[in-house]
Amino acid sequence: MNGLSRAAIIAVGSELLTASRVDTNSLFITDRVNTLGVDVVFKAVVGDDREELAGMVRLALTRADLVICCGGLGPTDDDVTREAAAAAVGLHLREDEAITERLRVRFKARFTGEMPEINRRQAMVPDGARVIENPNGSAPGLWIDVENHAVLLLPGPPRELKPMVDGLVAGLLRERCSGRVLMRRVLKIAGRIESQTEEELMPLYVRWRNWPIPVEATILASLGQLELHLSARAPSGDEATAVLREAVEDVIKVLGADVFTTEGRDLEEVLGDLLLARGFRIAVAESCTGGLIASRLTDVAGSSRYVERGVVAYSNEAKSELLGVPSALIAEYGAVSEPVGRAMAEGIRSQARVDVGVGVTGIAGPGGGSPEKPVGTVVIAVSVGQTVQTRTARFRGERDQVKYQAAQTALDMVRRLLLPGP
Ligand code: AMP
Ligand code: MG
Repeated sequence: MNGLSRAAIIAVGSELLTASRVDTNSLFITDRVNTLGVDVVFKAVVGDDREELAGMVRLALTRADLVICCGGLGPTDDDVTREAAAAAVGLHLREDEAITERLRVRFKARFTGEMPEINRRQAMVPDGARVIENPNGSAPGLWIDVENHAVLLLPGPPRELKPMVDGLVAGLLRERCSGRVLMRRVLKIAGRIESQTEEELMPLYVRWRNWPIPVEATILASLGQLELHLSARAPSGDEATAVLREAVEDVIKVLGADVFTTEGRDLEEVLGDLLLARGFRIAVAESCTGGLIASRLTDVAGSSRYVERGVVAYSNEAKSELLGVPSALIAEYGAVSEPVGRAMAEGIRSQARVDVGVGVTGIAGPGGGSPEKPVGTVVIAVSVGQTVQTRTARFRGERDQVKYQAAQTALDMVRRLLLPGP
């Protein structure tokens, strides 16, 4: 039997269509069903409306083989998921006396008096459906088989839904899914543009698609870096891990040191590990990034082992007073120039008596640009041992984007200088 492999999630609740509530259940469900090799092919949010919901369940069944609804299983009139799902698949609802009895007992134990009759709605079960127990609430879940598809109804409150999903993933869902495991690797890449990278990786994508266990790739561009997401579905975790490892090696052969992580880590974390491995400490002198580099470096737990200091030297006076940049140098070349960037990096490095000094000076905009030095011009200098490397970059975008890219480039330049030699 072919197992279930394509899920659609429908979050039900009019409150989820307002600006004040977000659907978080679908994120939890996605995370858990992914471990069974089930892909979520789409998700939707629908209000407490019978027609809308029945229509969405019908649509979902044309696109997915597992449709998971959450919410709307309460006892009141606005809880319509049971009725709507039953109508969508053409089944009648019947009261399950055993559930009614459990509801009455539960009600007596928690409140005084008899259970209101409307609570019996929670005991309505479509013909042939399985009842999924809810240990943390009154509304049981329902599993409805529809030919080789399934519709799963779950309650909305996360503390009720989560243990039920975990139980299903360990039991019924595992039995009914394809029995494959989905695993991912996230690679992050610096110093490259998306289109050119995609072009260079294209032959790999083609090759991976023809492997007995194919690997799928998605490339995402964000500010200052690219992410390459690789995923594989295999009968076992070991097999998925093995093909992903091979695919990662293929990427490294093409992109080399531009790949700064194959485990989804942040650039500042990777750099921190390199500094630790060398026993190096770092100090940064920042003008246009205003402390962003120091901030990112210190986002990493344990960074006190290698971050010595950061200085924001915004004015020309600060560059001279705090970093020892000669004012004549600033007068001759301008504050945004390679000689000044270099003097900042060397100045902070000798003052802090550390192994790595970084200097950044630039024009973040929107004002302050000139024809020779337009907005986005940033000089980055890194001083390590006897080496000083300087670079003049032209970043595009708004002020905060220029600052971020400057910080990213500075961290990446240091990283490359610290990589073990070939
Ligand atoms: P319901 O099962 O529709 O009565 O939902 C009861 C409560 O569960 C709602 O008021 C929300 O607080 C919460 N809830 C319902 N659906 C979701 C969802 N998709 N994500 C997060 N919380 C939800
Ligand atoms: Mg609701």
